[in-house]
Amino acid sequence: MRREIFGDEHELFRNEFRRFAAAEIAPRVAEWNRAGTTDKATWKKLGQAGYLGANAPEEYGGAGGDFLFDAIIMEELADIRAHALMVSLHSDICMPYLKEYGSEEQKQKWLTGAISGDVILAVAMTEPGTGSDLANVQTRALREGDEYVVNGAKTFISNGQISDLVIVVAKTDPHSVPPHDGISLILVEADRPGFRRGRNLDKLGLEGQDTSELFFEDCRVPVSNLLGQEGRGFKMLMNMLQQERLSIAVGSMASCRRALLDTIEYTRERQAFGKPIAAFQNTQFKLAELATEVEVGQAFVDKLLAAHVRGDEIVAEVSMAKWWTTDLQKRLTSECLQLHGGYGFMREYPISQDYADAAVQSIYAGTNEIMKVIIARKLGLG
Ligand SMILES: Cc1cc2nc3c(=O)[nH]c(=O)nc-3n(C[C@H](O)[C@H](O)[C@H](O)COP(=O)(O)OP(=O)(O)OC[C@H]3O[C@@H](n4cnc5c(N)ncnc54)[C@H](O)[C@@H]3O)c2cc1C
Repeated sequence: MRREIFGDEHELFRNEFRRFAAAEIAPRVAEWNRAGTTDKATWKKLGQAGYLGANAPEEYGGAGGDFLFDAIIMEELADIRAHALMVSLHSDICMPYLKEYGSEEQKQKWLTGAISGDVILAVAMTEPGTGSDLANVQTRALREGDEYVVNGAKTFISNGQISDLVIVVAKTDPHSVPPHDGISLILVEADRPGFRRGRNLDKLGLEGQDTSELFFEDCRVPVSNLLGQEGRGFKMLMNMLQQERLSIAVGSMASCRRALLDTIEYTRERQAFGKPIAAFQNTQFKLAELATEVEVGQAFVDKLLAAHVRGDEIVAEVSMAKWWTTDLQKRLTSECLQLHGGYGFMREYPISQDYADAAVQSIYAGTNEIMKVIIARKLGLG
C-alpha cells in the first residue's frame, strides 16, 4: 500500500541512500558477520555522505531534516539485512542526548564528530546485575575536585568495541532516595585511562554487531564531561526512550517485509508433489495472514512516525508498537522459516539469519514485558 507520510524529498533521499547502501554497505555485510564487528572506514563514509546526521542541526554539520529521513535509513538497512551497522543507535538513540542536553563545548567537540563519522557513539545502561531495573545501576561516578571517578561494569553494550565516546549511566549520589534521583549521564572517551573494553560477546543473532562488556576502574573524567544536570540522568533517559522504541518498531516492520517478500518468492519456486508450494492452501493462508499483519503494523508505525515528527507525546503508543511489531517479527520469521523447510535452517538462506536476528528485538530497548508495564500504567492500572 502506498505510504502517505513521505514527501518527494524523502523519496529522493531514499533512492540516494539505497544506491549508497548497495555500493558501500551490502557488499560488506557478510564480512562484518564473520568478523563480529563493522569497520570505522564505513562509518566515516556514512558521515561524509551526510547519513549520520540526517536529522541533526545544520550548525554542527547535520542536514537538519525531520526524523523521517532517519527512519528511511533504518528501513533501507533492514531491507539489506545490515543489522551489524547500528546507525540508528548512533544517530537516533545516542546523538539526541548530545543534541538535547550537551553544552555548547560538548556539541562542538562530540556532536560534530558524531555527525562526520569520526566519533562513534554508544550508550551504557545495562550492567551484569541489572537491566530492566535501571534505577538499580551500581556503576559509580563520584566527584573528587574537578573530576568524576567512574567505577563499575557494563554489559551487552552495542558498538562497545568500536565506540569512541560512551554515554555512561552512573550513580553520582549512591544514597539518593528515590534511587533514580542519584543517576547522572557521564561522557567517557574510549582513550581515558581506566576505561577498558571486555569481550565482544558471542551471540545467537546480530552476528556483525559488536556487543560488549565495558569496565571502568578509577576512570577519571573532568566534570565538564557531565551531560546535562547531575541527578537528572534518569529523567533524560526516559525522555529519549520514545524515539528509541519507535526506531525499533520502524526497523522491525522493514525486516518483516523483507522476510515476507523473500518467502513469497521462495514458495513460488520450490516444488513439492508436482507443484509450487505456493499452490498449497496452507502456504497461501499463512502468507495472507502475515501480509495482513504487516500492513496493519505498518499503518500503525506510520501513524506514530507522523505524530513523533509533530512532537506529540506518544510514550504509551510507541510502547504498544515496540512490543507488537517485534512480537510479529518473531512469529513471522518463524512461520517463514517453516515455509522454507530444511533450507530455512541452513545459514546460506537469509531467513535463518532473520529468525535469529528477530530474537533480540523483544529484549533490548526495554523488554516487551516492560512495554506492557508502561502501557498498563498509562491505562491507570497499578
Ligand atoms: C544484542 C543486545 C544489544 C544491547 N545493547 C545495549 C546497549 O547498547 N546499551 C545498553 O545499555 N543495553 C543494551 N542491551 C541490554 C538490554 O537493554 C537488556 O538486556 C534489557 O534491558 C533487559 O535487561 P536484562 O538482560 O538485565 O534482563 P532482566 O531485566 O533481568 O529481565 C529478565 C526477564 O525478566 C522480565 N522482567 C524484568 N522486570 C520485569 C517486570 N517489572 N515485570 C515483568 N517482567 C519483568 C524481563 O522482561 C525479562 O523477560 C543490549 C542487549 C542485547 C541482547
